[in-house]
Amino acid sequence: MPNMSLRKRVSSLRDSFRQRFGSEPAVVVRAPGRANLLGEHTDYNDGFVLPIAIDRSVLFAAAPRADRQVVLHALDLDASTAFSLDDLAPSSAQPWSNYQRGVAHFLQARGYRLQGLNAALTSDVPIGSGLSSSAAVEVAAAFAFRALNALDISLPDLALVCQQAEHEFAGVPCGIMDQFVSALGRRGHALLLDCRNLAYEHVPLPAGVRVVVCDTGVRRELAGSEYRVRRAQCEEAVRHLQAVLPGVQALRDVTPEQLAEHRALLPEVVYRRARHVVLATARMGQAVAALRLGDAVAFGQAMRDCHASLRDDYEVSCPELEALVDAANEVEGCYGSRLTGAGFGGCTVSLVAADAVSEFERHVVQRYRQQTGRETTVIVCAAEDGVGAI
Ligand code: ADP
Ligand code: MG
Repeated sequence: MPNMSLRKRVSSLRDSFRQRFGSEPAVVVRAPGRANLLGEHTDYNDGFVLPIAIDRSVLFAAAPRADRQVVLHALDLDASTAFSLDDLAPSSAQPWSNYQRGVAHFLQARGYRLQGLNAALTSDVPIGSGLSSSAAVEVAAAFAFRALNALDISLPDLALVCQQAEHEFAGVPCGIMDQFVSALGRRGHALLLDCRNLAYEHVPLPAGVRVVVCDTGVRRELAGSEYRVRRAQCEEAVRHLQAVLPGVQALRDVTPEQLAEHRALLPEVVYRRARHVVLATARMGQAVAALRLGDAVAFGQAMRDCHASLRDDYEVSCPELEALVDAANEVEGCYGSRLTGAGFGGCTVSLVAADAVSEFERHVVQRYRQQTGRETTVIVCAAEDGVGAI
C-alpha cells in the first residue's frame, strides 16, 4: 500500500486485527526499511556504512496469548500460519514466516522467556527492491516480542538477534547494517555505523534533501557469485598486506598511503579491489564531516567518487546501473548518485534537493527508458526514526 498515510495504514491494520482475532491489538509496532548513502562493500571489511531508516515500514499489530502459540497473519500475502514457541525451526511450507520464527528462536536462545501472541502485519516496503523489507519484518516482530514480554534487551542486541534469524532461518548471510538502522535510525539523520564494533552515531542530514532510490528492474545471478569472489579477493589482499603490516586485521585498517606503498605485493585485480575499500574508508570521514556542515555538494561528490570506484576498481556495475546514474547526474539538484547493494543490477541511491525531486523522477524515468528500453521504479525517501510502538 504505497503512499497511504501512516495513520490510515495503522487504522486499517487495527481493523483487520480485530476482525481476525476478535480483540484489540495490545501494541502496534512500526519498523522501517533502509537505504544506504555511503559505504558499499565495506561491511565485510570491518568498515563503515551510512544508512538511513526510511519512511516506508512494516506495521506489526500484536496481542499476547495465554499459551505458547504464535498465530501470524500476513495481510499483503493473504497468508496465515501458527507455530509453537516450543518447536521453532525454519518452515519450507511457509517461508515468509521464517523471520518471525527465527526471531523468537534466537530471543529464547539468549534466555528470554516468551509468551505466545496473535499478530497481523502489513508493509509498504517493496519486497526485493533494495530497501530491505526482510530486516523491517524481523525488527518489527522482535520489537513486538520485546514489548509484550517486557524484555530487557537493548536495540543493538535486538538487531543482532534479527541478523541471526536472517542467517539461520532465512539462509541469507547478510551484514548487520539493515537490522541495525531499522532499529536505531533517527528522523532527519543518517546513522554512521562501525561494522567492526557496532559503535554508531547519528549524523544530521542537510535540510531540504531527499534520498531517492531507483530500481533497474534487473537482477543478475552473477551478483551472488561475484559477491563471494569480491569477499575472497579482499581476504587475499589482507593476507598479502599482513606480511608487512602485522597489525592489519581487515582492509579497514589499511591507509591509502600504505596500500600505495605495498602495491607490488598484490596481484593487479586484488589491488584494485582493495583500493575501493581503502578509499571508501578514507572517504567516509570527510563525507560525514561535510554532511555535518550541511554541505550536500561535497557529500554528493563522495557518492559520485564511490560510484566511480565501484564501477572501475570493484567492477560491480552494469549498463543499466550506468544508465540510471548518468540520468541522475544530468538533473540539476542531484548532488550525487551511485549504485547500491551487491551490484550487477539492483538499485541506485541518489541525494536530491527536495524541490528538484519531481524533475528528477520525470527525467530519470524517461532517460532510462530511452537508454535501455526498460522501466525504472523511483522511490523518494525521507529519513525516519527506527523501530517503535505507535
Ligand atoms: P528485501 O531485499 O526486500 O529484504 P528479501 O528477499 O530479503 O528482500 O526479503 C523479502 C521477504 O521478506 C519476503 O519474501 C517475505 O518473506 C518477507 N516479507 C517482506 N515483506 C513482507 C510482508 N509485507 N508481509 C510478509 N512478509 C514479508
Ligand atoms: Mg532482505
